[in-house]
Amino acid sequence: VASKTLRIQILPLLSDNFSYVLHDSHSTLATIIDPSESSPVRKFLAKEALNLELIICTHHHLDHVGGAQELADQKVPIWASDYDRSRIAGCTRGLSDSEEVLVAGHKMRVIFVPGHTLGQIALYFEEASALFVGDTLFSLGCGRLFEGTADQMIASLNKLMALPDETKIYFGHEYTLRNGEFVESLNLNLPELKTYLQHVRDLRSKGNFSTPSLLDLEKRLNPFLNAHSVEEWTRRRALRNHF
Ligand code: ZN
Ligand code: FE
Repeated sequence: VASKTLRIQILPLLSDNFSYVLHDSHSTLATIIDPSESSPVRKFLAKEALNLELIICTHHHLDHVGGAQELADQKVPIWASDYDRSRIAGCTRGLSDSEEVLVAGHKMRVIFVPGHTLGQIALYFEEASALFVGDTLFSLGCGRLFEGTADQMIASLNKLMALPDETKIYFGHEYTLRNGEFVESLNLNLPELKTYLQHVRDLRSKGNFSTPSLLDLEKRLNPFLNAHSVEEWTRRRALRNHF
């Protein structure tokens, strides 16, 4: 029996958004996460000879749902959290916290991570060690608190930190170098930061992206994962908002 492998392709959209196209290596049926816009996605699917079977949105912000309805064309289902169901046009199914569903033939667990918005979810594929976090977590950063409180966001980040260290973090925006400048400005004692930022600069200069990152590395370097108290976390979030 041929083994099933989840293939994950990165699709940059708008100015700095990431969508992700998932399919099993033995199938041409694709799922897209967070389609910001429709026409580049259509072109990409055609080029790869993939057929869209499912759209999942990590939260209701336009840069994560903007292309969903047009791509769905009333045929392809659109999933989001049950909280977001009523505020994402065309959403056909609301997912609940801890729900396990098959996506691209692979088991996916839904993790509610309120903070950036109240309906934000993360999508975890244990077998592939892949976690799609939308705007909850970025490399060296985290999402702004648009709807939730710091306590909610910290609880959400703690849920993600409980996953295995080797988990690959697929985030929603290419903010890593800017986040890196912010972390440098905090003057924390993080000798590894320089090496990591040089690695990211190399990737970017070749037209590649910093997604996915590794949970292990983020636990050490991300100022929103290594803060020692709610107060310290909140101070860092406020500083980053005005950085
Ligand atoms: Zn957002
Ligand atoms: Fe976003």
